[in-house]
Amino acid sequence: MTISSEFQRCAWCAEIVPRADGPGRPRRFCKRSHRQRHYEARRLAAAQGIAADEVLLTRQQFDEWRDRRYQLEAALEDAQQDLGDAPALREYTEAFQLVYEAARRTASFRLEPRALGSE
Ligand SMILES: [Zn+2]
Repeated sequence: MTISSEFQRCAWCAEIVPRADGPGRPRRFCKRSHRQRHYEARRLAAAQGIAADEVLLTRQQFDEWRDRRYQLEAALEDAQQDLGDAPALREYTEAFQLVYEAARRTASFRLEPRALGSE
Protein backbone atom coordinates (compact mmCIF):
# COMPACT_ATOMS: atom_id res chain seq x y z
CA MET A 1 0.00 0.00 0.00
CA THR A 2 1.30 3.41 -0.94
CA ILE A 3 0.54 6.27 1.38
CA SER A 4 -0.26 9.40 -0.53
CA SER A 5 -1.98 12.70 0.10
CA GLU A 6 -4.18 12.15 -2.95
CA PHE A 7 -6.30 9.70 -0.97
CA GLN A 8 -9.10 10.73 1.33
CA ARG A 9 -8.55 9.55 4.89
CA CYS A 10 -11.28 8.45 7.28
CA ALA A 11 -12.14 11.26 9.69
CA TRP A 12 -12.31 8.67 12.50
CA CYS A 13 -9.48 6.15 12.04
CA ALA A 14 -7.32 7.79 9.33
CA GLU A 15 -7.45 4.71 7.10
CA ILE A 16 -7.65 5.38 3.39
CA VAL A 17 -11.25 5.74 2.24
CA PRO A 18 -11.95 3.89 -0.99
CA ARG A 19 -12.93 6.22 -3.77
CA ALA A 20 -16.57 6.04 -4.72
CA ASP A 21 -17.32 5.93 -8.42
CA GLY A 22 -19.89 8.29 -9.76
CA PRO A 23 -21.30 11.62 -8.61
CA GLY A 24 -21.77 12.80 -5.06
CA ARG A 25 -19.66 14.00 -2.18
CA PRO A 26 -16.44 12.13 -1.44
CA ARG A 27 -16.81 9.79 1.53
CA ARG A 28 -15.36 11.00 4.85
CA PHE A 29 -15.40 7.62 6.60
CA CYS A 30 -14.10 4.18 5.71
CA LYS A 31 -17.15 2.48 7.13
CA ARG A 32 -20.54 3.28 8.54
CA SER A 33 -19.60 2.39 12.12
CA HIS A 34 -16.81 4.98 12.02
CA ARG A 35 -19.23 7.66 10.90
CA GLN A 36 -21.39 6.69 13.88
CA ARG A 37 -18.48 6.75 16.38
CA HIS A 38 -17.36 10.13 15.04
CA TYR A 39 -20.88 11.48 15.48
CA GLU A 40 -21.12 10.12 19.04
CA ALA A 41 -17.69 11.52 19.99
CA ARG A 42 -18.63 14.96 18.70
CA ARG A 43 -21.97 14.79 20.47
CA LEU A 44 -20.30 13.87 23.77
CA ALA A 45 -17.80 16.70 23.26
CA ALA A 46 -20.63 19.18 22.81
CA ALA A 47 -22.38 17.85 25.92
CA GLN A 48 -19.18 17.99 28.00
CA GLY A 49 -18.04 21.41 26.77
CA ILE A 50 -14.96 20.03 25.00
CA ALA A 51 -13.43 22.84 22.92
CA ALA A 52 -13.00 22.59 19.14
CA ASP A 53 -9.27 21.95 19.51
CA GLU A 54 -9.59 19.36 22.30
CA VAL A 55 -9.87 15.57 22.34
CA LEU A 56 -10.83 13.36 25.27
CA LEU A 57 -9.04 9.99 25.49
CA THR A 58 -9.36 7.21 28.01
CA ARG A 59 -6.42 6.84 30.38
CA GLN A 60 -5.73 3.42 28.85
CA GLN A 61 -5.46 4.88 25.31
CA PHE A 62 -3.29 7.75 26.48
CA ASP A 63 -0.95 5.42 28.40
CA GLU A 64 -0.74 2.93 25.54
CA TRP A 65 0.08 5.62 22.98
CA ARG A 66 2.74 7.06 25.28
CA ASP A 67 4.23 3.56 25.82
CA ARG A 68 4.41 2.84 22.10
CA ARG A 69 5.99 6.21 21.36
CA TYR A 70 8.54 5.56 24.10
CA GLN A 71 9.29 2.08 22.68
CA LEU A 72 9.91 3.61 19.26
CA GLU A 73 12.20 6.24 20.74
CA ALA A 74 14.11 3.55 22.69
CA ALA A 75 14.44 1.40 19.54
CA LEU A 76 15.89 4.36 17.65
CA GLU A 77 18.40 5.05 20.43
CA ASP A 78 19.37 1.35 20.64
CA ALA A 79 19.81 1.17 16.88
CA GLN A 80 21.97 4.28 16.87
CA GLN A 81 24.21 2.84 19.62
CA ASP A 82 24.40 -0.60 17.99
CA LEU A 83 25.48 0.86 14.66
CA GLY A 84 28.59 2.43 16.19
CA ASP A 85 31.38 3.83 14.00
CA ALA A 86 31.78 1.21 11.29
CA PRO A 87 28.67 -0.92 11.13
CA ALA A 88 28.57 -4.04 9.02
CA LEU A 89 25.59 -5.42 7.15
CA ARG A 90 24.64 -7.55 10.15
CA GLU A 91 24.45 -4.51 12.46
CA TYR A 92 22.39 -2.61 9.89
CA THR A 93 20.05 -5.58 9.55
CA GLU A 94 19.58 -5.95 13.30
CA ALA A 95 19.07 -2.19 13.75
CA PHE A 96 16.50 -2.18 10.97
CA GLN A 97 14.60 -5.11 12.51
CA LEU A 98 14.54 -3.38 15.89
CA VAL A 99 13.27 -0.07 14.52
CA TYR A 100 10.89 -1.75 12.08
CA GLU A 101 9.16 -3.75 14.82
CA ALA A 102 8.74 -0.68 17.04
CA ALA A 103 7.51 1.41 14.09
CA ARG A 104 5.04 -1.33 13.09
CA ARG A 105 3.61 -1.42 16.62
CA THR A 106 3.34 2.37 16.70
CA ALA A 107 1.77 2.58 13.23
CA SER A 108 -0.83 -0.07 14.09
CA PHE A 109 -2.08 1.89 17.10
CA ARG A 110 -5.48 3.50 16.59
CA LEU A 111 -6.60 6.41 18.68
CA GLU A 112 -10.28 6.24 19.48
CA PRO A 113 -11.25 9.36 21.37
CA ARG A 114 -14.25 9.32 23.69
CA ALA A 115 -15.02 12.90 22.74
CA LEU A 116 -13.83 14.97 19.78
CA GLY A 117 -14.16 18.72 19.55
CA SER A 118 -15.93 20.01 16.47
CA GLU A 119 -13.58 21.10 13.71
ZN1 LIG B 1 -12.37 4.56 9.58
